[in-house]
Formats: sequence, C-alpha cells, structure tokens
Amino acid sequence: VPVLNILSMAKTGIYSYKDAMLNPGFRKMTSLLSYEREKIFAKFDAVSFKDFADDVKLPPEMQLMFTTFSRAFFAEPQYISMAELIKSFHSYFLSNDLGLLYDVLNDDFEDTLWKPAKNYLGKYKSTISLDSKITSFKKEGNQFIINDERFDYAIIASDVKGTKNIIQNSDYFRKEHPDFYNQMTNLKQSQRYSVLRIWIDKDIRQGVPFFIFTDALKILDSVTIYHRMEKSSEEWVKKNGGGIFELHSYAVPDDFPHDEIRNQFLKEYEEYFPEIKGYKVKYEYLQVKDDFTAFHTNLYKTRPTAKTQVENLFLAGDWVKLENPAMLMEAATTSALYAANLIFNKEGLKEETILSVPLRGLLA
Ligand SMILES: Cc1cc2nc3c(=O)[nH]c(=O)nc-3n(C[C@H](O)[C@H](O)[C@H](O)COP(=O)(O)OP(=O)(O)OC[C@H]3O[C@@H](n4cnc5c(N)ncnc54)[C@H](O)[C@@H]3O)c2cc1C
Repeated sequence: VPVLNILSMAKTGIYSYKDAMLNPGFRKMTSLLSYEREKIFAKFDAVSFKDFADDVKLPPEMQLMFTTFSRAFFAEPQYISMAELIKSFHSYFLSNDLGLLYDVLNDDFEDTLWKPAKNYLGKYKSTISLDSKITSFKKEGNQFIINDERFDYAIIASDVKGTKNIIQNSDYFRKEHPDFYNQMTNLKQSQRYSVLRIWIDKDIRQGVPFFIFTDALKILDSVTIYHRMEKSSEEWVKKNGGGIFELHSYAVPDDFPHDEIRNQFLKEYEEYFPEIKGYKVKYEYLQVKDDFTAFHTNLYKTRPTAKTQVENLFLAGDWVKLENPAMLMEAATTSALYAANLIFNKEGLKEETILSVPLRGLLA
C-alpha cells in the first residue's frame, strides 16, 4: 500500500519525480516516510508544519494537501507539530488503501450507532447515565466516589476541556496527586472549530462525493452532502426538495470574529458551488466549540497515557498518548481498548486484541 499510494500522489500531480530527484529540500521530506514514534517525536515535535514546509521548500500542491491535512487535525500549519503530522500521514496515507476515505454510517447516529450500542451493553447489565455531568471525583480507600456513586475502577473519557474541568474541580487530585493534577490541568485545547448544518431549497451538482474537502478560503474545510449519505436526510429531501448540507471549519483562525462565522461559511460554500445561487435557508444549526485537543508543537512530552499514576484510574480519548499511530476516532477507540485491557489484566480476564497499522514507516 505505501508504495502504491506514493506513486499515485505523483500521478495526480501532488509532487513530481523531477522534484524528488533534484530538490535537496525534497530529500529531507523522506522523514515523512520514516515514522518511528520516539525518533520522530524527538526530532520533529518542536517543529511546526509551516516551519518544516518553509525549510524544505515544499511544492505548492503538497503544501495544499498538508495544510488541509493539518486543519483536519484542528490546527493551522503554524501550530501543528510536524511529528503529529508525520504520524498522521503514516497512519492514513501510507498504511490505508483509501487514505482519508472510509466507510461511514448511512443513517442517523441515534439509530445506527447509539441504540444498538445501548442494547448490546444492556445485555451485560451495564448502566448508561445520560445528561450526567461529572461534578465531583475523589478516591476513598480503594474506591472512587464519582457524583456520590462508588466504583472500583474509573476511565475518564471526556473531551480535553471536560477532563480539565473534572480534575480542576477535584480537591482529591490537587492534594493527593499534584503532579497528575498539574499535567491534566495543563492539557491544551485547540483553536475553535465550527459546524453549520443547513436545510435549503436547492441542490448542488451531481457526480461529486458526499464528503468534499475544500481549501479553506478563510474557514470552510469541508462540505458534507447529507441527503446523499444518510437515509433520513434523503427522505426529508424527497418530501421537501432542496438539500441538507453540513459545512465544517476544523480550525477557525484565532482572530476571526465569532459573529461572522455563519456568513463566512455560506460565502465560501457559494464560491465552491456557484450553481446554488439564489437559494433560501429553511433551517440552520450553528455550533462553535473549543473542546478539541491541540496537536500543537511541544505537547508530546507531557501528553498523558492511558495508565495514570493514580491506581485504578485510566484515561481514554483522542488526546491520550498511544504506542501505535492512530488519530481522532481511531485514537479514541484504541486508547479505550488500552484502558479496558489494563483493567482486564488486573482482573485476570482475557485482553482485547488491538489492531494497528505498521508501527514503523517504510524508510524508518
Ligand atoms: C466537525 C468534526 C468532524 C470530525 N470528523 C472526523 C472524521 O471524519 N473522522 C474521525 O476519525 N474523527 C473525526 N472527528 C473527531 C472525532 O469526533 C473525535 O476524535 C472523537 O469524537 C473523539 O472521541 P472521544 O470519545 O475521545 O471524545 P468525544 O466524542 O469528544 O466525547 C467526549 C464526551 O465527554 C463528555 N463530557 C465532557 N465533560 C464532561 C463531564 N464533566 N462529565 C461528563 N461528560 C463530559 C462530552 O459531552 C462528550 O460527549 C471530527 C470531529 C469534529 C468536531
């Protein structure tokens, strides 16, 4: 797969063989093919993608591809750690036949994911408490007391903002585990990201994929055509006409005004899809958030692992440091498997297999 993917990038004009042979900076780019966790983080965690691109004089097509890629990890090129980017490039492009394409659920998450998951867990007598914000967290003897309930083990799997909040509100961690308290309360959030979903009275051209990466003019990173992806959205459009679209910005520039996000989304959307001109928005839903983890420079050293210094307390989420290269949802799932396995191991139970792309790059 890696060799074929690299060759196909040349074929689509992302780089040229001539560049590869002649450009001295280009040779430094072999680091992109040399992922090996400790070595790459030691060498590149302090370097941003922007600095790397300037240094190696990255061709414009590759700059564009990696800028989009960097933003997909919720960071603009001047912030993202080059080590995280090499890890991601290794994990997605050099180990996966389809690069950033993957299978997706074909209907609303409630029906396709959450209900089946709840039913499955119900068979094992588990309890799921929704709308139950963790407001207090401490340990007494061998047990955790979380919102007045007692537990033998705990896995904190909230997003980075929520996790900081949980730890910050806990006198137990502050007094009994000050190092852990400091490590966790210093976790860094990324820039703001935003999602605008619109229900409109017109549709865009046929023949395009239902998920499209756009080169953000200012903020628009991708457009998802919901009615060509999800059954319930398709039904809505059959009944009402028009289309349902979701516009994403994974990294809203720090100085971009909050009040202008909605209109800027629509402006860029119209620019990429001029056939939509004159459309009317029937419904819309805007979210602007800042709870995603930062994959910025110099964060690797202090990034926490699934195992913590607090006995029987574990961490899971896309912000947890892993032994194998994985990002986003895959990292969240993998870290959860690590955390669960640590508990299974203590209880003498069979551990789950953790699948991974190769741990080392082609030229490592
Ligand atoms: C717009 C967008 C598009 C994305 N697209 C992709 C994609 O195409 N592919 C991909 O792999 N990933 C994608 N991601 C990233 C993906 O959503 C995350 O990596 C993934 O959801 C992380 O899972 P998680 O379980 O670690 O955390 P989350 O899904 O963030 O869940 C954390 C939960 O913790 C809860 N919480 C916070 N504080 C508390 C508290 N005090 N008490 C109780 N609960 C709390 C939150 O409410 C939340 O439900 C995307 C993200 C966004 C925002």
